[in-house]
Amino acid sequence: MGATAISARYDLYGPIAVITVDNPPVNGLGHATRSDVVAGVDRANADPACAAIVIIGAGKMFSGGADIREFGTTGASSEPTLHTVIRIVEASGKPVVAAIGGVCMGGGLELALGCHYRIAESSASIALPEVKLGLLPGAGGTQRLPRAVGVETALNMIVSGASVPARQLGGTALFDAVVDADLLEAALGLARAIVAESRPRKRLRDIAIDYPGAEAYFQFARSTLGGVARNFPAPCKCVDAVAAAVSMPFEDGLRVERQYFLQLMQTPESRALRHAFFAERAAARIPGIPQATAPRRIERVAVIGAGTMGGGIAMNFLNAGLPVVLLEMNAQALEKGVGTIRNNYENSKKKGKLTQAKLAQNMSLLRPTLSYDDLRTADLVIEAVFEDMEIKQKVFAALDDAMKPGAILATNTSTLDVNRIAAATRRPRDVVGLHFFSPANVMKLLEIVRGAATGDDVLVTVMQLAKRIGKTAVVAGVCDGFIGNRMIEHYLRQAMFLLEWGASPVEVDEALEKFGMAMGPFRMSDLAGNDVGWRIRQRRYVEKPNVVYSHIADRLCERGRFGQKTGAGWYRYESGRRDAIADPVVDAMIADYRREIGSTPRTIADSEIVDRCILALVNEAARILDEGIALRASDIDVVYLTGYGFPRFRGGPMFYADMLGLYNVVRRMQEFACDPRGDVAFWQPAPLLAKLAEEGRTFNEQVSSQLAGRALP
Ligand code: NAD
Repeated sequence: MGATAISARYDLYGPIAVITVDNPPVNGLGHATRSDVVAGVDRANADPACAAIVIIGAGKMFSGGADIREFGTTGASSEPTLHTVIRIVEASGKPVVAAIGGVCMGGGLELALGCHYRIAESSASIALPEVKLGLLPGAGGTQRLPRAVGVETALNMIVSGASVPARQLGGTALFDAVVDADLLEAALGLARAIVAESRPRKRLRDIAIDYPGAEAYFQFARSTLGGVARNFPAPCKCVDAVAAAVSMPFEDGLRVERQYFLQLMQTPESRALRHAFFAERAAARIPGIPQATAPRRIERVAVIGAGTMGGGIAMNFLNAGLPVVLLEMNAQALEKGVGTIRNNYENSKKKGKLTQAKLAQNMSLLRPTLSYDDLRTADLVIEAVFEDMEIKQKVFAALDDAMKPGAILATNTSTLDVNRIAAATRRPRDVVGLHFFSPANVMKLLEIVRGAATGDDVLVTVMQLAKRIGKTAVVAGVCDGFIGNRMIEHYLRQAMFLLEWGASPVEVDEALEKFGMAMGPFRMSDLAGNDVGWRIRQRRYVEKPNVVYSHIADRLCERGRFGQKTGAGWYRYESGRRDAIADPVVDAMIADYRREIGSTPRTIADSEIVDRCILALVNEAARILDEGIALRASDIDVVYLTGYGFPRFRGGPMFYADMLGLYNVVRRMQEFACDPRGDVAFWQPAPLLAKLAEEGRTFNEQVSSQLAGRALP
């Protein structure tokens, strides 16, 4: 994992020294790389035969910025820091040209901004994405970029973190040339011309910014950020830093930028966003899988069942250009399923998100069928039939006969035992769970359920495939509900108890939405369909008679209020609209229920609502982690960030608990456990949680150090 010994090469092309930043995979500016760049600049300056310097990236890109593997280590702050490198480059007695290809981001762009000249491939991606980690560019980016491209363009780039193609920035002081030719050749040509014409060493810091009406513009920018600013302090600090570039001498602006950067590093939001960033990368790694494990080829896919999930799943592959065979049990269901897919695409086209050509191409890749014979060429099949073990086992037995050897057999079950499904085949090694979330063509999360017999190569293949279809994959072990749904059940149980004790669905939803959840539990249930939970509870009442459930949701379902699909659930919905409207009928139903169970309603504070629901997630998650169902705490965070609308600025439930302090989490649970009306057994802190709290530890110990294990190729 550590940096290689040499991570920037030095070569002479006649009188031009070329420093090639070479630190795969993204030419990150780690300590060794920074040291090598400085050594190269020093060497070139000491060599009388050298007249100019070109800095270029090895491979396809200039530099992706900081080396994330170095975050949280002493290497990140060891000299030469990026600041120092940029000062040395800028002060070089011989002109320095940055040759920018591929990606030039963050610290990479800040380094380029310190060079005297810049030449870029027209397609190169230029960005300062630090704001996405709750930070701002801390090595001069906020001071030099406005001088290069103008205040407004710079501020837009810094506040959004978005990538801009170099061609769009041509004609500004950012680039001396934007080319489509061979980059190194073009850069050498520019360097020779600079030498031949004795052109000056230009420094962006010397450009004076002339921007009349700056204060009004910055005020406008701040007010545009408005609501976002409450949970995300970084964008406002970006505005302040760029304002400093306009109002202060360069060195003072740099100091202000530094000060803001250090402040933002300490904010809980930035810590959470950085955690989320690492967590998503760590999730792609599976410990214990040999690096040499080769993935299987997946070129053709089959989907069984063209219902809500099957259709959405098929769309993922069609969108990625993979042919899909879609199998149903009768012509009517098949036609309906294909029609829904077509309608979805038509709607995207109407919204301008899809061209007619792409729509036609996607539909031409879809092959509907009623016959298992048509599955023979598929490399992967995903079953999405009714949630019934007997039906699924029959389907898998049929797939075992129909599919070619080496094909992967996947199930989209939400609750059933993947090992029992695998047992219906003669090839359990090839069976895996691929748990998509609804709507399957939209939701980012994919839980990959690893059965007891699932082959390593099968796992590696589906992880890679997830990336190909733009999903964030998290590996889960076999249990009822896997990671996400097993936890959400307890969250929803707490939400129901809150109704019994005095809160209304609106109060509960609003408290959790203020906390940052994309949608409160009742609005979420109305969207997912209250009948789904009802069916699960019916099963639980038999299987787990000791678990306490509120029956309040059953009452709702008995009235046929299944949610949005029936026009009424915890809220009512006007035809064709999705706005949840509070419904007095539901309030009366809840009041009746309270009387029936003898509950005297009390006022419940938002903080209690949040603690009960969120800590219920945490306690179950601790069990999931202890049982090895999740590989690491941060995977649980990724599941909640990408699949359940957990606020990213809080980093996920496990990170949130870590920030509260596990000691405090345990104390709050013990308070809930003492409440005789509540779910006393559930609120006993899970053994892992109790242990970590006692030892003063956290769930997420250094996720960055967990970037080990089998990485995706
Ligand atoms: P659905 O009822 O909308 O669709 C199931 C489809 O399977 C129907 O079109 C049905 O005709 C077809 N089918 C049934 N038996 C079949 C067979 N033997 N051969 C071929 N086709 C058959 O259900 P859904 O919501 O799409 O759920 C499908 C699966 O996905 C279930 O296992 C469910 O638990 C899981 N799942 C659902 C969701 C969700 O939010 N709906 C989310 C994740 C996973």
